[in-house]
Amino acid sequence: MTVTVRFAPSPTGRIHIGNARTALFNWLFALKHKGRFIQRFDDTDVERSRQEFADSILYDLHWLGIFPDQTEYQSKRFSSYDAAVEKLKAAGVLYACYETPEELDLRRKVRRTRGLPPIYGREALKLTEAERAGLEQDGRKPHWRFLLPNFASDPFETERTEVHWNDVVRGEETVDLASLSDPVLVREDGTYLYTLPSVVDDIEMGVTHIIRGDDHVTNTGVQIALFQALGAEVPAFGHHNLLTTASGEGLSKRTGALSIESLREGGIEPMSVASLAVLVGTSENVTAVASMADLADKFEPEATSKSASKFDPEELVVLNRVLLHHMTFAEVRDRLLVLSISGKDAEPFWMAVRGNLDRLSDAVSWWKILREGPQTVPELSEEDRAFVSQAFDLLPEEPWDGNVWKDWTAKVKKASGRKGKGLFMPLRLAITGLESGPELADLLPLVGREGTLARRP
Ligand code: GLU
Repeated sequence: MTVTVRFAPSPTGRIHIGNARTALFNWLFALKHKGRFIQRFDDTDVERSRQEFADSILYDLHWLGIFPDQTEYQSKRFSSYDAAVEKLKAAGVLYACYETPEELDLRRKVRRTRGLPPIYGREALKLTEAERAGLEQDGRKPHWRFLLPNFASDPFETERTEVHWNDVVRGEETVDLASLSDPVLVREDGTYLYTLPSVVDDIEMGVTHIIRGDDHVTNTGVQIALFQALGAEVPAFGHHNLLTTASGEGLSKRTGALSIESLREGGIEPMSVASLAVLVGTSENVTAVASMADLADKFEPEATSKSASKFDPEELVVLNRVLLHHMTFAEVRDRLLVLSISGKDAEPFWMAVRGNLDRLSDAVSWWKILREGPQTVPELSEEDRAFVSQAFDLLPEEPWDGNVWKDWTAKVKKASGRKGKGLFMPLRLAITGLESGPELADLLPLVGREGTLARRP
């Protein structure tokens, strides 16, 4: 059977690096197994879900290098969920409940004081036909709970009922269905909570592996029971740990913190985000991986830690530097073109500056320095000024070859008696206006003889 995975965010905000981790775990799993990746939008909450967020999530995924084979919206699939509800009702495992949140809260408190676990006691199952009719006459609408299969014959006599699965990430997992409340699947107003639509979609879309955050481990016990109640084969599950900020806070779509959009706008490369999002919190070192195929080779879901992983956004900048340093001109040509860096000098320019960039867009300021001259007035002492002027008089005639810097500075050294920093720094300052940067041997040919002489202090 073709491996089929899905990434299922609700389109209620921009995705962040933690969501990207889930998407990438699925994408890499599909890549490794030559499988399919379904993009599913969990938009049953029509109030909070927005098409513009769905569009931006797709955009962010494409930017990261994830290209779904299929895209689905739950809001277009209500008839399937309605059919599943009828099936569960007919099997007697979906029952109407009428308690208000306040009543449920009170019951939980009573159970706690009695030393009982604060789970739903299935009181609604005891309602007679007449009592139900009475409640409805009083204007109460039912919500619907799934009767968990955690009893032999009497639903009020629950017994330990273990659901097991071999988690793709965490290994052997067990959930005891008797420790859980019967989950509400349909609200009073007829809207669906996440649990049922998710299972129905996973069945109808042929999902073979459900890979998601470990905040869903308990849900998995319930969902396995639902797959079975709907007569479907149970897929495999994998639950990866969640990412937190360095101070241990969870990430939220609502705040926009560490959103893929903000990282992109901050000049972070997609593979820097992907490398960190996938490798942090695993036994692999976090290194800058240049391509999705290489990342798939490194990706071992079972090597993921079971506890939450702290990560430092500063690491993205470090990874970015390494990635940019190794990027070939062919890989960046079009992006440089957009930054108006083009022409015959574009390639040698890129090779000269790539090792000095935190972000690709930093190339613009170097291009300007080389084309227009220093962007800040070089601070040179009287003595250095005279030295630079003397050095400029010794500039070789063009045409220049790759040794021009070496040849020139050898002559300057001889004439001035200067060496080391005393020789290079005033020249660097005069040519670039900055104390550090790419090798002058690479920059000088790009500035040219005329350009250099125009920088005479
Ligand atoms: N919409 C759910 C979430 O974002 C999907 C969970 C799942 O993958 O099943 O948490």
